[in-house]
Amino acid sequence: MARDTGAQCKQCRREGQKLFLKGERCLTDKCGVERRSYPPGEHGRGRQKQSEYRVQLREKQKAKRIYGILERQFHSYYEEAARKHGRTGETMLQLLERRLDNIVFRAGFAKSRDMARQLVRHGHWTVNGRRVDIPSYQVRPGDVIAIKHDSPAAQVVRDATELTGQIPAWLQADHDSLTAKVLRGPERREVAAPVQEQLIVELYSK
Ligand code: SF4
Repeated sequence: MARDTGAQCKQCRREGQKLFLKGERCLTDKCGVERRSYPPGEHGRGRQKQSEYRVQLREKQKAKRIYGILERQFHSYYEEAARKHGRTGETMLQLLERRLDNIVFRAGFAKSRDMARQLVRHGHWTVNGRRVDIPSYQVRPGDVIAIKHDSPAAQVVRDATELTGQIPAWLQADHDSLTAKVLRGPERREVAAPVQEQLIVELYSK
């Protein structure tokens, strides 16, 4: 699956906030937003006109950048959420959170979602004992993810666990055995992404 490979710091600067796309570097004073807190490009320092459409569009772009996915796939999450009962925006975020690459990241096994995606794509993870190399794989309550036996990435993953912040209550991670269990689905307040999902729903439902 293709993804946005534009310079990650530029993506944060475009959204005007830290999206924590680069792991360790995001916590240092080398952070692009800390160094240049204005949008990239020739007109970055000029005044930006804030129409309703623009605000909604930026919110969508931000969410896509946080989860590292492109428009087509992102829109399919919206469509799937719209078909389900409940609040569409909230359901969409829950679907995004239940991606395997996101679980690897949020359980503390990768320094960034980008790194988590690479680890999954290169076949270093199993779900319930079976190798899964699809970053968008939807993990369900009760699933157990584990690093593949004898994976050469184990040390990299262990290094990442040392950077781990708080693990959300819907996941149970064991950093010694490099396994995690999905206890339940995420609640909205447990989605750490700084996204106003209602704005995205308004944009897509026009
Ligand atoms: Fe964003 Fe991290 Fe780059 Fe800072 S260092 S601008 S948070 S990707």
